[in-house]
Order: sequence, then structure tokens, then C-alpha cells
Amino acid sequence: MEQEYGLFIDGKWTAPPGANRFRTINPATREPVGSFVAGTTGDVDRAIGAAAKAFPAWKETPAPKRGEILLEAARVMKQRKAELGRLVTREMGKVIGEGLGDVQESIDFIEYMSGEGRRLFGETVPSELRSKFCLTVLQPKGVVACITPWNFPTAIPNWKIAAALITGNTVVFKPASNTAACGAEVVKVYEAAGVPPGVLNLVTGSGAVVGNAMVVDPRVRAVSFTGGTDAGRDVYVRGAQGLKMVHLELGGKNPVLLMEDADLPLALEGVLFGAFGTSGQRCTATSRLIVHEKVHESFLKMLTDRLDRFSVGDPLDPKTGMGPVASADQEKKILGYIEIGRKEATLRYGGAKLTGGAYDQGFFLQPTIFETKHGTRISKEEIFGPVLSVIRVGSYEEAVRVANDVEYGLSSSIYTKDVNRAFRAIRELEAGITYVNAPTIGAEVQLPFGGVKNTGNGGREAGSAAIGEFTEIKTVFVDFSAKLQKAQIDSESAA
Ligand code: NDP
Repeated sequence: MEQEYGLFIDGKWTAPPGANRFRTINPATREPVGSFVAGTTGDVDRAIGAAAKAFPAWKETPAPKRGEILLEAARVMKQRKAELGRLVTREMGKVIGEGLGDVQESIDFIEYMSGEGRRLFGETVPSELRSKFCLTVLQPKGVVACITPWNFPTAIPNWKIAAALITGNTVVFKPASNTAACGAEVVKVYEAAGVPPGVLNLVTGSGAVVGNAMVVDPRVRAVSFTGGTDAGRDVYVRGAQGLKMVHLELGGKNPVLLMEDADLPLALEGVLFGAFGTSGQRCTATSRLIVHEKVHESFLKMLTDRLDRFSVGDPLDPKTGMGPVASADQEKKILGYIEIGRKEATLRYGGAKLTGGAYDQGFFLQPTIFETKHGTRISKEEIFGPVLSVIRVGSYEEAVRVANDVEYGLSSSIYTKDVNRAFRAIRELEAGITYVNAPTIGAEVQLPFGGVKNTGNGGREAGSAAIGEFTEIKTVFVDFSAKLQKAQIDSESAA
């Protein structure tokens, strides 16, 4: 059953008469999921106006009170977890355990951020002068734009919205068009929790129209964007014209370094989960296995044998290992890379679209493994699908060189029993995240998340680091000496 959604502006769901609409479909069945307003620049203007109007009162609401509203949002989300988890799976195709996991991560993050309402610490710092008191306080930026992708369709919106709201900002939110129902349901959760009108606004529609209008509007003081590197670069450039803070979380080409002394059965499960979880459509997905020549062949055999017992199919069935990819566009792009791989590398597993029976209704691909030299396109470009490039190396040093020789730097992992080598890898891998003896995926909300190089522009989401993305630091001096005391003046030469 297709559900119809409107825009959420100034606390009201509205569907402008005669508005163009677009739909989302279930990538496993192509059944319609939702129908949405294709927002216009006028809709964005109204939403930003509502957010600007709501800002002064929300800013003045004590942060612990804002935290109470967030805690209520977490409670509502918990109550709706089963239903929302199914919606995630129906709208983007990840298996139901991951759909529910997406919602659980949302709950965890909102709860975590609600507690931040009782922290939002500044600093007190001694003055160089007598009877002078110095401190810093955190203040919200104002109206912020949150633009999100489809692969974590409730978690990523919540990472942004909950952090923005607890710090006193008001929000204009544009979800990925592919997962607009998940985005709209996230907004309904906050509405049910009692977020005041105008504090959180939703405009669905394309990145080119709605996303762009948010980025360039001078009333928007910060943009938090997660998506592809090309779109991110574009958003950064246009945001820069308004000198606004633009936070970017972009692509990845995440390596697992498998050393000759690794626990191979442990690594096997980690590589499978990292490469084929969410059909390889996580920004932290394991897309490169950089493996020591001493275990290369034996590990590849373990991997391909194990894949023979890996089920691809109905993502709502809890026994399924991997669901469809998220859309026809995704399928086309991934199959394009598989074609490239066939020309430049050796196919070791999969490499085709699954057909016949229920497969014909959706976008199902085989888990795919290529054996390749470092430097090929499939070994360096982000594919964002269930395609693993296996690269053979002769030493740890070569593994690190290969790992670092890509434009991205999000996640990374090393499997080894050598503690010295593990610590060297922590130091030497160019990535925002390094795992030891664990897959490249598995963020926890209380820790910072983000990458280096073309994965972003230096910011971090989640953890306490997220607070900094949505606040300005105000420095305060209180002079209680009752006389003019001069800083920045050389005391010996002063009259
Ligand atoms: P896109 O970059 O295509 O889209 C992301 C969001 O930006 C969508 O809401 C999209 O709208 C919007 N958008 C697209 N173009 C513009 C624009 N010019 N101006 C403003 N907004 C725009 O990415 P995908 O949704 O396809 O997501 C996949 C990408 O996201 C991958 O590269 C992946 O690595 C990255 N990603 C990174 C993560 C990280 O934390 N580092 C986490 C998850 C994903 P619309 O949907 O309407 O096109």
C-alpha cells in the first residue's frame, strides 16, 4: 500500500495543490512504498522562514528541556521500532536485522544526544589579569540544513537532527529521494515527541532543486551533508559563497589488511559482513581485501566456499544474508563496474544479476569477488555495491602503501595477532577509523565518525565531536576589578 506524504513546514503537514509528486519503491519487489511532494524553491523558502522564526525561542529553551523532548522522541521511536525497521527494509532493501539495526542506532543516538543537554560544556580558563574571569559558552549556529543519503535512512538523519536540535539550532531537512518515507517518518517521531512548530521542517524533492536551495540560502548558517564525493564537493563550493560551515561525510574505499598471522576464520566472518552487509552499500563497506601472499589462496577459497552458502533474497526474511541493491540506478552503476572488472581483473565469484522467480521483480546481484592488481579502477573507485576487490601483497609495508593509495580515507581494518603491527597500522593507515581484528563497519554512536582525504573536510559526526559541528564558541571575559585592565599591551612599556 502506497502512503501519501506532504511537506512538514512550521508544524503542519501540507501538500501544495497541484504539486508534482514522486514515489519510492521497494527494491525487492518494485511495489510502491510512498508518494511525495517534489518540493520547489518556494517550499524551501517557506521552510527556512519557519525555521528562522522558531530559532530564538528554541535557542532560549534550556538545553535539558530540549533533551527531554529528544528523550521522548527516542521513546516514540522505540515504540515504533518494528514498524520502522520494516519500512527501512521495504524502502531501501537492507535485510530486516539491519533495518531494525538502523532504527536502533537512531534510538541510541537520540538518547545519547538527549544527555548532552545536561553537558554542552564550555571551558573556564585562568586570566592573565587579576580579578578577571574567563570562560567559553557554546551557542547554536541558527538554521541548519540537513541533507542525507538513502543507505542509513533513519540513522543518518537522526545523527544530524538530534545533534542540531540539542544544541539549539532549528532544522530544514531533505532526505534522499529514494528513502523519503523513512525521512518523513523520522520527522513524525519528533512531531509526536513535541518539537515546537518550525523547529524541524521537512522538504522532500531533488538534490538539484531542494538541496541546492537550502545550501545557497543566506539564512542557513550550516549545512550537514552526507552523500557522494562529487555532490559533496559541489555543496561545499556553493556553501562557501555564503561563508557557511559545510560539514561533509562522503565516500570510501575501505580496506581490510589480512596479514599472514591472522585468525582466518575470524577474518572470514568479518570480511563477509563488511563486504556484503547492506549489499555493500555502506560508506564504510569493505571494498578492498589486501591480503598477504602466504594466505591469499587459502583465504580466497574459504571466502568463495562460504559464499556458496550465502543466501541472497527476500530482505524481510530473517534468514536472508543479503537483500537487493537499493535502486535501478544502483544496479546499473554496479553492473557497469562489474563489466569494467571483467576487463581489467579476474572474476573469482559472482559477477551477475540474479534472475528467475522473485529475483525478476527486484534489483538482486550476486556477491562478487575480483582478484586484481592495485591500480585498476575497481581497486580505487568507490563502487558502493557487493563487489570486493582482492589485492595480493608481499608484506605489511606494501599492504599499507596500497591501502593508502586511494583518494578516500574513511574506514580501515587489520587482522593480525602481532600487537606491534596492529599499533603501527593504527598510526599508518590514512583513515578516520581503524579497526583491529574487526570489520570496517560497525560505528558506535558515542564515538566520532568521519574520514580524511576526499571522504570529508575535517568534521566528525556522532560522539561529543558532533556538538562542535553545530555550535559556535563564545568567549566571555568578566572583569570584576572595577578598573580598566589592559591585555595585549606590554606592561613594561605601558604608561
Ligand atoms: P548523493 O550524493 O547522490 O545524495 C546524497 C543526498 O544529497 C541526497 O539527499 C541527494 O538528493 C542530495 N543531493 C544530491 N546532489 C545534490 C546537490 N547538488 N546539492 C544538494 N543536495 C544534493 O549520494 P547517495 O544518496 O547516492 O549516497 C551514496 C553516497 O553517500 C556514497 O558515495 C557513500 O559513500 C556516501 N555516504 C557516505 C557516508 C559517510 O558518512 N561518509 C555515509 C553514507 C553514504 P536526491 O536523493 O534527491 O538525489
